[in-house]
Amino acid sequence: MAGLGEICFNAGVLVESASSSVGADVSRFEAEVHAETARRPDFRIRFAVRSPVPAPAAAGDAWLAALLLPAMFAGEDLEVRLPVSARLTRTANEIQALMHSWYPDFLNRITVRTPRVLPRALPAQERGAVAVFFSGGVDSWYSLLRNREEVTHLLTVKGFDVPSADQELWPEIVRTHERIAVELGKTLVTIETDLRDHVDPSHGCFQKPFAADFWGKAMHGAGMAAVGLLLQHQFSRVIVPASWQYARLQPWGSHPVLDALWSNGQVEFWHDGAEASRLEKIRSLAGSQTALRHLRVCPSDRPGRYNCGVCEKCRRTMLTLRLFGVLDQARSFDQPLDFRAVELMPVARYLYPLYREILDEARARGEADVARLVRILIGDKFSARRRWHFCRQRAGALAGRAARKIGLPRWKRSLLKRLPARWRLRPSVRQPLARSPIPCASARSAC
Ligand SMILES: [Zn+2]
Repeated sequence: MAGLGEICFNAGVLVESASSSVGADVSRFEAEVHAETARRPDFRIRFAVRSPVPAPAAAGDAWLAALLLPAMFAGEDLEVRLPVSARLTRTANEIQALMHSWYPDFLNRITVRTPRVLPRALPAQERGAVAVFFSGGVDSWYSLLRNREEVTHLLTVKGFDVPSADQELWPEIVRTHERIAVELGKTLVTIETDLRDHVDPSHGCFQKPFAADFWGKAMHGAGMAAVGLLLQHQFSRVIVPASWQYARLQPWGSHPVLDALWSNGQVEFWHDGAEASRLEKIRSLAGSQTALRHLRVCPSDRPGRYNCGVCEKCRRTMLTLRLFGVLDQARSFDQPLDFRAVELMPVARYLYPLYREILDEARARGEADVARLVRILIGDKFSARRRWHFCRQRAGALAGRAARKIGLPRWKRSLLKRLPARWRLRPSVRQPLARSPIPCASARSAC
C-alpha cells in the first residue's frame, strides 16, 4: 500500500496520512484521522471499491468532500496536504457558505487550507463512463431508466443507507443489483465504507451531541461526492438521484445547488430527477418489469427482509403501485397490502403532500377505496377505528408513564402494557377520551 501524503484538520480533526492500493478485484483507499472533539480522537476511514481503480490525481478531493462537513460541525479548521484540484479548492468555500446559510446552528465557517493545489484544471474526460448512484429505490430507478442509454455503471454503497456492519441484507442487495446490471447491460461497482460510522454526529461520533438526522440533512451528498471523487479517473459524470422535487426543495444533504459544487473538473456531479414527483417516478418505473421485480424502498433494513411491507414507506409505495395496477408484479413486496392495517398507520404531517398526490391520482382513476383510505390517513375523513386506536395508544403511554412515576416494578409495568387500555382506565376517564376528537380528523362526507 503506497502512502499518498497527508491531510490535516488544524486544531481538531486531523487526517494524518492517506493511502491507496489497487488490486485485481478490490481497490482500497484509507486515511488516518485525528479529531480532538471526536469520541475516539484517532480513527481510520476506509473505502473498498470492488473494481480496479487507479489512485486519483487529485487524491485530496475525496477526503475534502468526506471531511469538510464534519469539520464544520466540529468547528475545526481543515488542512488537506494531498493534491487538491483548483476547482474544488475554490468551491469548498462556496459549499461552506451554502451549508452555513442553511444550518447556522450547527455548521460553522472554518478555514480550509490546501497547500498542494494542482496548478492546472484537470482534463475533463471526453467519453468517460457515466455512473448512477443506485440504492434500488424509486429515485435511483427513475434516474437509471431515464438515463439508460448514457449510464454505464451502477454504484451501490454499503455504509450509507445500509449499515457498514450489516451481514445479512447486503449480500442479498449485491446479488439483486448484479442481476439488475446484467439485465440492463450495465456494470455494477460496489463500495464499502465506514465513513459514516466515524463522522456522523447523530451516531454520537463527536463530543458535541446532535439529535437530528445529520446524514440526511447535511452529509449524504458529500458522502456520495467522496465516492465519485475517488473514482474520478473512471467516470466523467456521476448521476445523483434527486431526493426532492423542485416544487418541494428544502435544505438537504443532496440538492441541485449543492451536488454540482462537488465537481472537480474531471468528474461532474449531476443532480437528476428533481422535475418529477414521487408518484410520477413510480408511474415511470411501473413500465419496467426489472424495476418492479427488484424495487427496494424499505428504510428499516431488517435482516433478511428486502422490503418489510409494513412500514409507512413500503405501504405508501404499495398503495401507489396498486393504483397503477402493477402491485401484483412488484415481487419484492411479499406482504399483502392490508387496507385495515394501513388505516391505523401513523403518517407524519410532512408526508401529507405525497399522500395528496396519491389521492388526486386515485380520484382521477375512480379508485374510491384508495381515495377513502388516503383521506383517512391525512385527516380529511373521520375513522372511528383510527381514532379509537390512537386513543388506546395514548392511554397506554399515559398509564406506562404513571406506573413509572409511582414506582411500579418493571414486571408489573410490562403486565400493564399487555392489558387493553379500557381495563387500565376508569370509566370517568375512558368516556371523555373516546369522545375527544383526534387532531387530524374531520367529519366530512365520504369520498
Ligand atoms: Zn418497509
